[in-house]
Amino acid sequence: MDGKLIIFSAPSGAGKTSIIKYLLDKILSTEFSISATSRKPRENEKNGIDYYFISVNSFKKKIENNDFIESEEVYDNVFYGTLNSEIDRIWQNGKTVLLDMDVKGGLKIKSIFKKKALSIFVKPPSIKSLDNRLTKRALDTQKSIQERLKKSEFELDYADKFDVILENKDLDKTKIEAFRIVSEFIDSK
Ligand code: 5GP
Repeated sequence: MDGKLIIFSAPSGAGKTSIIKYLLDKILSTEFSISATSRKPRENEKNGIDYYFISVNSFKKKIENNDFIESEEVYDNVFYGTLNSEIDRIWQNGKTVLLDMDVKGGLKIKSIFKKKALSIFVKPPSIKSLDNRLTKRALDTQKSIQERLKKSEFELDYADKFDVILENKDLDKTKIEAFRIVSEFIDSK
């Protein structure tokens, strides 16, 4: 059974994860697509909930087996990908798939599923605000934060290619706006 997909892309620290968690909580007909990654889990992350954490070698094997609908080397030698089986599993449950991906992966999924997919870009008010958030949440090393900030400038250039740009000036208001946009898309024919 085929259903719909909603893609969220944003530079790291733009508030995307909080918005996705809010929507998953409020809209019970949505389910999170758990990506595979070769990055190490952060302290608060669990295998099979936040990601499927696998080695670079098994990631590459899965690419060879065509297990991914898309995959990207998002950072140097750090891979992320969406498994075909994950989307099938969620659609089998009769639910709408929520995806958290980098801009390239997001646009790839949109180009595959077209009208069945809604692509949303979460835009931070400024690069400075990203730096503050990434430093404050202290989940990444300073090197990784710098790598993420460098990448965010390139990611912001992709915003216009998305169906919707959601500017996150005030997280509570942005969550409500996201709820409105996503509900409307799910209810549409
Ligand atoms: P993080 O390491 O902060 O969890 O994620 C880093 C980046 O990888 C984020 O932009 C996130 O959206 C992206 N990402 C997560 N899963 C996937 C995926 O399956 N495919 C792609 N292309 N990017 C992903």
